[in-house]
Amino acid sequence: MVVLGAGFGGLELATTVTDELGDDVELTLIDRAEGFVFGFSKLDVMFGRHDPVQVLHRYDGMVNPGVRFVSAEITAIDPSARRVETSAGTYEADILVVALGADLDPAATPGLTEGGHEFYTVAGAFAAAEAIRDFPGGRVVVAVTSTPFKCPPAPSETALLTYEYLTSRGLPCDITLVMPLGTPIPPSPDASAAVLAAFAERGIKWIPERLVRGLDPERKVALLSDETELPYDLFLGVPAHRVPAVVAASGLAVDGWIPVDPLTLETSFPGVYAVGDVTSVGTPKAGVFAEGQAAVVAQRIIGHARTYDGRGVCYLEFGGDQVAKVDVTFVAGQRPVGSLIGPSTDLAADKTAFGADRIRRWFGREWSPSAAGTDG
Ligand SMILES: Cc1cc2nc3c(=O)[nH]c(=O)nc-3n(C[C@H](O)[C@H](O)[C@H](O)COP(=O)(O)OP(=O)(O)OC[C@H]3O[C@@H](n4cnc5c(N)ncnc54)[C@H](O)[C@@H]3O)c2cc1C
Repeated sequence: MVVLGAGFGGLELATTVTDELGDDVELTLIDRAEGFVFGFSKLDVMFGRHDPVQVLHRYDGMVNPGVRFVSAEITAIDPSARRVETSAGTYEADILVVALGADLDPAATPGLTEGGHEFYTVAGAFAAAEAIRDFPGGRVVVAVTSTPFKCPPAPSETALLTYEYLTSRGLPCDITLVMPLGTPIPPSPDASAAVLAAFAERGIKWIPERLVRGLDPERKVALLSDETELPYDLFLGVPAHRVPAVVAASGLAVDGWIPVDPLTLETSFPGVYAVGDVTSVGTPKAGVFAEGQAAVVAQRIIGHARTYDGRGVCYLEFGGDQVAKVDVTFVAGQRPVGSLIGPSTDLAADKTAFGADRIRRWFGREWSPSAAGTDG
């Protein structure tokens, strides 16, 4: 069995299958990155809570003996033959799982790389951390540049955490959030109301149902999809998302992403599954959904008749050590539903435990991000 991509989905799948099947399965997990970084850790680095080195979970030294990890660039996928070409050779599989996530394309937004910061790539978030650290205060625009985009709550969290960071240092701030959605968390009216109330309390301006199409770095203005302009001193943007080029070239993608059976995560190619951000399964692009889908594929491979229920529980940062949980379910053909728990400081501890639990299961290591150097 070959798993492409060691992110949220690939790590969960590889761990569950090898834990359950032991020597009865030969599993190869392929990724080009140095290690795994949780999406939420990017925000932790941006706002100075953790150092970059603390949030990188290196693939070398993974302790799960059942997983054969290959550090390589995947250069071609033949889904009919279930054959994969990589910079480290060719791999063939009885079962192939594509968990390659979404690629990010900051250059697709004119002026973004010259005049602003994107905070969705690891490098971009770490660079944004320096810009935020050196920012003397002023107008901040947090904005989404195209749809779909990962973790729909992340821009709202970024606006709230920017407010906390600047005001706690006595710096002036005037924050505007530009989002394509009508409400911050569409499946949960309660979560949306709580986020909008937090914006109102802090004077954060909320501009819904719009995108930023480009920046004019000379004039320091963001150009919105409704033809209006927004001046900024610091721009924090969500870049365009694309299916990885190797997936586009494979014939697996249709209309941008890989279509799958929403109950089984099977693609139209026998023996080929896809999970997570690389699919168009109908859930938001987020780690908790990638993990849930991977868990279902793992159970099916192990031999249990599980189907995917579209449920995920996401954490939502309000700043000031206040974290909420949003429990959302997306079922094909039905209106998504969601409920809000918190925010509270107990849930901040819950979120830390969520991360530590994944690192223990996936990497066999303890992770306590406040203590530098405990991981890797
Ligand atoms: C700022 C931010 C905050 C977020 N917060 C949260 C949150 O709180 N909760 C949550 O659930 N989600 C959150 N997310 C979203 C979450 O990070 C992603 O949705 C999740 O990682 C998707 O999992 P995946 O397995 O589909 O893909 P990924 O985790 O992206 O993994 C894909 C893997 O494929 C590898 N890869 C891609 N192409 C190739 C290739 N050609 N060759 C070799 N390897 C390749 C990549 O290196 C990567 O390791 C956040 C994202 C961001 C940016």
